This record gives sequence, C-alpha cells and structure tokens, in this order.
Amino acid sequence: MNSLLGRFHWNKLTAPPVVQSAESLPHPVRLSGLLLLLILGTITVYMTGGTGYAYPYVILVPVVLSAAWYGFTGSVIAAVVAGLLLGPLMPLDVQQGIAQSPANWLARLLMFVLIGGFTGSIFRALKQHSDAHAEALRHDSRTGLLNQAALDDDLPVLLRQQARQGRAGLALVFVRIVDLSEILEALGTEASDIVVAAVAARIGDHSKNSVRAYRFSGSELLFLLDTQDSGEVETLVEAIRETGEEVMEVHDVPVRVQMAIGSHHTSDPRTPHQDLIRRARTALFAAVEEAEFYRPYDPAYERKTAERVQLISRVRSGLKSGEFELYFQPKIHLGTGEVCGTEALIRWHGIDGRLIMPDSFMPKVEDTTLIAPVTRFVIQQTTEFLRENPDEQVSINLAVRNLFDKSLIRDLEQIASKAGIEPQRIELEITEGALIKNPYGARVILQELRDQGFPVSLDDFGTGYSSFEYLTHLPITGLKVDRAFVKHLETGESNRSVMKCLVDMAHVLNMTVVAEGIETESQRKILADMGCDMGQGFLFARPMPASRYLTWKAREAV
Ligand code: C2E
Ligand code: MG
Ligand code: MG
Repeated sequence: MNSLLGRFHWNKLTAPPVVQSAESLPHPVRLSGLLLLLILGTITVYMTGGTGYAYPYVILVPVVLSAAWYGFTGSVIAAVVAGLLLGPLMPLDVQQGIAQSPANWLARLLMFVLIGGFTGSIFRALKQHSDAHAEALRHDSRTGLLNQAALDDDLPVLLRQQARQGRAGLALVFVRIVDLSEILEALGTEASDIVVAAVAARIGDHSKNSVRAYRFSGSELLFLLDTQDSGEVETLVEAIRETGEEVMEVHDVPVRVQMAIGSHHTSDPRTPHQDLIRRARTALFAAVEEAEFYRPYDPAYERKTAERVQLISRVRSGLKSGEFELYFQPKIHLGTGEVCGTEALIRWHGIDGRLIMPDSFMPKVEDTTLIAPVTRFVIQQTTEFLRENPDEQVSINLAVRNLFDKSLIRDLEQIASKAGIEPQRIELEITEGALIKNPYGARVILQELRDQGFPVSLDDFGTGYSSFEYLTHLPITGLKVDRAFVKHLETGESNRSVMKCLVDMAHVLNMTVVAEGIETESQRKILADMGCDMGQGFLFARPMPASRYLTWKAREAV
C-alpha cells in the first residue's frame, strides 16, 4: 500500500490550509513577557537582600516558560541571561555590600543552563509527540489520506483566507466509488483501501489542477479545488473519468472501478463550510440516484430530497388512515385480445387530494423497512380483490427487501391460503436488481415461491444485467420486457430483431412474455406478429381503481 501512496504527490494548494493552534500568542508579546519576568526576578532578588538568600530561584520562572514556548534553545538562552543577571553585578548580601565570588555565580549560571536545557528538551519531546498525534488524527489510518476531521479543520481556514484576501472561488468535488462494497466482498478490506488510495493517487496524477484529496467516508473521496474557474472543475471531472477507465491491479486481480461525482463551486467564502459539503454531497447523491456519472449541485436537488423525506415520514400514518389504494392495469392476450390478468399498482391520495405516483416514493420506501408494511397492504388488498372476483388473476410487485424478508414471504403464503386464494392467481413481479444483489439467495427463495405455486416473472427485463445464460438457471415463469424496448419498435429493424430474439428466447425457456408500455396500434401489431404473448399499456387501458377496472373489463367483454 505504501508504494501506492508513495506515487501520490499532492499538487500544492495555492495557499495550503494550516491548522491553527490555540497556544500561539504573538512573538513580541511572549518576548516582552519573558523580559519583564527576568527583570522582575532580578529586582526581587536584589530587594530581598541578594543571592545569599532564598529568592534567586524565582528567576527560573521565565526560564521554564521559555522552555515551554521556545524549546531547548530558547530555554538555554533564557538560563544564560538569568545567570548573568544574577552574576557579578548582583551582591551576595546587599545590606553588607558583600559581592559574590566568580565561582558562586558561575556555578549558579551552569545550574540554570542545566535546568533550562533539561526542561527545554522535555517540552520539545512533548511538543513533537503532540504534533505527531495531532497530525495522525488528521489522517485516515488505513490509506494515509487526509480525513473528514482534517477537512473540517482546513475548509474554514481556507474560506477565511479567501475572505481576507478578497478572493472567491472554491470547488468541492465528491467522488464515490460505487462498487467498492463489491470489491470489499470479493477481495477484502485491505484491497478496498488499496483501491481508494490508488484512485485518489491516480486522480491526483491525472489532474492538472491544484487539488487536495480527503477520504470523506469508506467509499467517498472529496477533492478541494482552490479556483475561481469552473473550467478547472470540468478538467478534474475529466481526470476522474479517465481514472475510471483505467484498470488497476489489486492483489494480482485486475480491477476497474465505477465512480459517481457530485460537485459544488462556490464564490462566496462566507458560506458555512458544512453547507458547502452538504451541497456537494447532495449533488453526488443525485448522480448516484439518477445513475449519472456527474452532477453539479442544483438547489432543486435539496427541495426534491426534502419533499421525499417528508413524504416517506408520512407513509406509515398514510397506510393507517387509508390514503393508499391499488390501481389495476389489465394485461391483454395479444393473439386474442382478451384480458388475461391485471397488475396491481399502488397509488397514494395525498392530503391535498393529489394522486401521488409510486415513482416519487416507492424507490425510497423500497430502501427502508417501510417496504414491509406497504407490501403487506398490497397483499391484503389483492387477496380481498381476488376473493371478490374469482375470475381475476393479479400480479403484484415485490421489492428486493421483500424477497429476503422471511416473515413477509410466510405471510404471503398464509394470507393467500386463509382467504382460499390459489397461489396461481397471484403472480409476483421481481426486478433484476433483486437477483443481482444475491443471486444464490434469490434463487432459493424463488424456488420456494414456485414450489408453493406462485407464478414469478422478471419485471423491467432488459434494464438490468441478467445474461440469457443466467436466466436458464432461474425458476421463473415469465418475462416482462421493459417499455424501452417497445418504444423503439417502430423506428428500427434492429430493435425489432432484439425484441424478437427476447421473445424466442423466453419461449425456449418455457416462459411467457409480457411487453410493457404498448402505446400504439402498430407496436401492438408488431409484437403480436412476432409471437409476444401478452401486452400491457396505455393503448389498452391506464391503471385504474378496482371498480372502474371491473366496469371497463365488463364492457370490453361485450
Ligand atoms: P412497473 O411494475 O414496471 O409498472 C409498470 C409501470 O408502467 C406503471 O407505472 C404503469 O402505469 C406504467 N405504464 C403502463 N403502461 C404504460 C404505457 O403505455 N406508457 C407509459 N409511459 N407507462 C406505462 P406506475 O404505476 O407509475 O408504477 C411505477 C413503478 O412503481 C412500477 O413499475 C413498480 O416498479 C413500482 N410500483 C408500483 N406499485 C408498486 C407496489 O405495490 N410495490 C412495489 N414494490 N413497487 C410498485
Ligand atoms: Mg411491475
Ligand atoms: Mg415494469
């Protein structure tokens, strides 16, 4: 690891931030204080009768003080001055006018020098120790990079410096190594630290700017750029992109990291440093969430996040007070045009009567434990709907967390059997994400659900990373091809070929295929002609409340 760090040369910040210590009184104040104490000591000795009495040692006070302030050299100089002040001119006995013998004052001077030298070296050692300790506290012990504490020290200093000098322009660039946890799982903690250090080093190498890197958290680096020119931020982002394209060897394993970047460029040095950090990090979160490589800060991100946080905090009470409802969107058999099932899609009636769509709250809900009560609600409502409508078959969406929530899976089985609903009537839609995160675990649970009799289909197929080969090992019954494939069917032969290939492959694997998002008659026809089994989309019907869906269906059947 050292060799990696060794290659890491920091481009200097134009004005490197320094940690200011509390000890520092200005030099002139300290020197005049010492001088005053030496003179006071001399006067005290003279007034108390001369060096023959007990007071000569008060003059050691400034000697010890200069040891503390100036270390070895300072205390030796102070000791010599103190020894000379109590030297040949200072009487042994003032009243009787007895002078000191040279041996007397020389011996004292020597003793003062010894005491001064000794205390000076002790203070020097203590200072070195505490400096080393303070410096260690500013560094991440695993990579040697500056840490968050150092950033909290340096950033305000830099901002103050800029404010004083009338300069303005500082960029904070956050970089997250998105797949660090996978590297950690595969190669261990040490390897992931090596990767972080190497990434920081390479970015430093690539960058033409003055940058300083901090390890902000396990997988996040923050680069400080002392510049007014936003073009320099772009250059740094380019350098990071280049770093991401390089392969590095870690424990003889070639590794390429995926990164996401968020930045904030400020021209107001009076902005509190915590706000600057928060803004840059918000931009990073936006980049990660939108699966983008880079996002500069936009105040709209914070509004969106705040709105979402407020929404999430109301999910539980909303469930209790009946603000959620299931809408149903029919699935159509493309060969016959018959309705052959429906998908349950959640809707939230906000307090202002506005209908809140799942995209604005489900992604966050799915990341929290709130997903369990939400999915339980969906299961309850679905079984009720199925009990009242014995001809219906409903698909529900399960989140990754649901799949690995043993008690929820057990409840699903129990609720269905208690209501007398055959599992075949509840299809479970799972996105590829669930399978990628824990392929083995997911496979086991899917098999269990299949054994119970629940059909399982892969939702939004084509947007993830599943390989065809991988699909052959999964106990799934259907593929729901993502809307993105349907959208471009009319515009290119190659898009149609890909779709046809997906349909054929699914059939070979004994799966049914549902095309999502059919909006035009020509899309329907192309899909029907290529043998796609079912379709779902606004062309047939939008999602609607249960009663409206049943009326719609009755009308369609006529
Ligand atoms: P999804 O499961 O892929 O659902 C299909 C989405 O596509 C629905 O959006 C539907 O309204 C929309 N859609 C259907 N046909 C068309 C079309 O022709 N054109 C266009 N542009 N869109 C069409 P919706 O209802 O907003 O749901 C969005 C996503 O939210 C769902 O995608 C699903 O992932 C999630 N979701 C919805 N309800 C639940 C739920 O109860 N539990 C979980 N875990 N996720 C849910
Ligand atoms: Mg779905
Ligand atoms: Mg879908």
